[in-house]
Amino acid sequence: MEKLLLVRYGDLMLKGQNKKRFLKAAIHNAKRMVNDDRVRFDVAHDRLYVYPEGADIDAVAQALTRVSGLGSYSPVVRTTRVIDDVVKTALAWLAPHIKGEMTFAVSTKRADKKYPLRSIDITKRVATALLKAHEGLSVDLTNPDVKLHIEVRRHGVYLYHEKIPLMGGFPVGIGGKAILLLSGGIDSPVAGYLTMKQGVALDAMHFESTPLTTIESAQKAIDLTKKLALYNLDMEMKLHLVPFYKLHRAILDYVPEPYHITIMRRLMVRVADRFAEREHTPVLISGESIGQVASQTLESMHVTDNACTRPIIRPLATTDKNAIVDIARAIDTYTISTLPFDDCCSVYTPSRPATKPRVYYAERYERLFDVEELVEDTVKRTHTISLTPESDLNLVAKGLSVEDALDQGGEDLAARSE
Ligand code: ATP
Ligand code: MG
Repeated sequence: MEKLLLVRYGDLMLKGQNKKRFLKAAIHNAKRMVNDDRVRFDVAHDRLYVYPEGADIDAVAQALTRVSGLGSYSPVVRTTRVIDDVVKTALAWLAPHIKGEMTFAVSTKRADKKYPLRSIDITKRVATALLKAHEGLSVDLTNPDVKLHIEVRRHGVYLYHEKIPLMGGFPVGIGGKAILLLSGGIDSPVAGYLTMKQGVALDAMHFESTPLTTIESAQKAIDLTKKLALYNLDMEMKLHLVPFYKLHRAILDYVPEPYHITIMRRLMVRVADRFAEREHTPVLISGESIGQVASQTLESMHVTDNACTRPIIRPLATTDKNAIVDIARAIDTYTISTLPFDDCCSVYTPSRPATKPRVYYAERYERLFDVEELVEDTVKRTHTISLTPESDLNLVAKGLSVEDALDQGGEDLAARSE
């Protein structure tokens, strides 16, 4: 008797070449996540059999919950092709799950048609034995409490009865790459996770305003990137740390208060757009959600998008906060996101932010200072670090601004984690 996992893929509505690519990527990602040479992956048509071969099966299953593109799994027990063994295994495998009055069904498939017994004969033998062993048990073929699946394969007979959902979506990487605008808040990490689940790999970009804001707030972006890296291609994520200080100053000095946040967003996406151009990245991802704060209105999104040549995808546009928080907890970003360090938005406290800003005014205010030169300079001074879930990059003790801290040896740390 050997235990293994039967894994089904997620959105497999694909054909031909695309499907091949999907399967290859899903298996590559699953192997990376499981990260144990003992574990054997056996690809069979539209399924994947995972044999622990000595590794802890629960740890393997746990790792698979973090692989996008996998739809569900079943814990499987494998026995010999001798019918008495099949019956015995079925009894032992189901015993802990049968209590009192319950209904069941057995479904048998022969992947190996040369097996001497017909499917119906196997089903009957197993069902009869189960009925005899448990008094409260009865058969219900349409809506059973327990459904035992039996698969006759060339190297043994496989039995399973549970189906546990996995992430679904597409293997990360097959949808290309995008830049995630990652703040220290609750929403943008969740937006990033959902994007990766949909098959898109990410680089993160954080606008930090040290020393105007605390270095702890930039550290939050680093710690969030480490959490997100777990789901990214090869479990690694680049973080572009953008020194936004000078742009903030310009906004405070030149822009009328109600437009502070509007212009801030426009400058952020300008920088990101410039960066994306250089890196051949076609879209940006943001954590905005319609109506969540005064500045996240449709008009606001229009004026922001007007400053950017790329589409800005907002996966959370219509998701309510409770649902976002649930995901943030599930991916373990919530605790970091709710640490009380001020981010760039706290630089501004407009008493009457424009909730219906207009492109005309935004452009007019941007002519009051040299946007082009500031954006170019900011792009040039951006530091890129590469992070994994295990990286230990802590800038907090190293200075008051991110640029100083990275000069103080932070960059060595970052380089080591690459
Ligand atoms: P979040 O919880 O993601 O911070 P929020 O509801 O607080 O979102 P805002 O602070 O208004 O909303 O920001 C909206 C979006 O703009 C964020 O989700 C993020 O994508 C982007 N953004 C805001 N601040 C930053 C920043 N400092 N660096 C990078 N992106 C940012
Ligand atoms: Mg925020």
